Amino acid sequence: MKTRAAISKAPHEPLVIEEVEVDEPRSDEVRVRVVASGICHTDAIIRDQWYPVPQPVVLGHEGAGIVEQVGAEVTGLEVGDKVVLGPSFCGQCEQCLSGHPMYCTNFYDQNFGVRRTDGSTAFSAADGTPVGSHFFGQSSFAEHTNVVARSIVKVADDAPLDLLGPLGCGIMTGAGAVLNVLRPEAGGSIAVFGTGAVGMAGMLAAKAAGVSTIIMVDIVDERLKFAEELGATHVVNSQSADPVEAIKDITGAGVDYALDTTGVPAVFSQMTKSLGIRGHGALVGAAKLGTEAQFDIGTLLLSGINVSMVIEGDAVPKEFIPRLISLHQQGLFPFDKLTKTYGFDEINTAFDDSAKGATLKPIITY
Ligand code: NAD
Ligand code: ZN
Repeated sequence: MKTRAAISKAPHEPLVIEEVEVDEPRSDEVRVRVVASGICHTDAIIRDQWYPVPQPVVLGHEGAGIVEQVGAEVTGLEVGDKVVLGPSFCGQCEQCLSGHPMYCTNFYDQNFGVRRTDGSTAFSAADGTPVGSHFFGQSSFAEHTNVVARSIVKVADDAPLDLLGPLGCGIMTGAGAVLNVLRPEAGGSIAVFGTGAVGMAGMLAAKAAGVSTIIMVDIVDERLKFAEELGATHVVNSQSADPVEAIKDITGAGVDYALDTTGVPAVFSQMTKSLGIRGHGALVGAAKLGTEAQFDIGTLLLSGINVSMVIEGDAVPKEFIPRLISLHQQGLFPFDKLTKTYGFDEINTAFDDSAKGATLKPIITY
């Protein structure tokens, strides 16, 4: 069938909305009519080729929609089901089998290969040229897309699909890094570096977990002000103050937990130095392959700190996304306050607004 998709053709170039052919879902796939898709910073860095993902490609990996067609071997999903799309994983390697599908041994190929394992793409241009699909298992910047059933999370019939797509990546990443990896104790302290959608989701999760000292660090005053409105107890603009000193002033001895959502090497170093003894820090911010950061092994050895590298909040999406929806329904995780809705034709404006920092989490509605 024909559908409209936003195609990324070259680095730093705007996406182009075109009609493409979407093929029949394979026996393990479902065809989803996408209702809405968040835009994540990762879509922008892949458009700009920080990772070598073949173009042309349909990006988008925070989709939510309605099942329209079900492959012959799919169980547990029916036409009409409302779904949130998650990252792809093989389901068979040792990481998947031990409950860590976001570290799937085949994660890179499955999510950035933009081909099925048989080499085919779900989309093709009018002249028959293949257009990359299955980006993060989904390629949700299309009105219809084919997705492997394994990575789909079914949600309630009355679930607000216009809102839920970002639970499949950015929101899950920030919240999961805190709730699944740092696992803070109530009454503790956390510093979050970067107040984008990922950092704010981490902040809201820390608040939901009862962390009582929440320090947000950024270089944009408006974002810090917003973080305060949403629950930060302290904010630090790291352009006007040394964040490590500021965090030690606030906490006395450093924070119990920290999260770096910037992927900036100097910030990663600041995060390690801001931790108190036996503190635990996590990096989720993405950097170009080959980026190195300084880490004072002499001093930090004595501190007993832990540092984790975290993909997609180390979540099992089918288990974690419903938990986040439940927290949201109880008013304990108000991630809707981070979002702003755009029409499909405004997708490049939404990318620009996100890059400028004007919008934390853009959501495209179809
Ligand atoms: P964003 O661009 O909205 O937020 C980044 C924030 O960092 C901005 O507010 C920016 O002002 C701030 N910042 C930049 N430089 C800084 C500095 N030197 N000091 C302090 N703050 C600084 O992005 P986002 O959507 O929140 O995503 C954050 C990162 O997480 C991105 O790199 C994204 O690619 C990555 N990501 C990783 C995963 C994962 O699985 N690990 C998943 C999703 C997103
Ligand atoms: Zn993402």
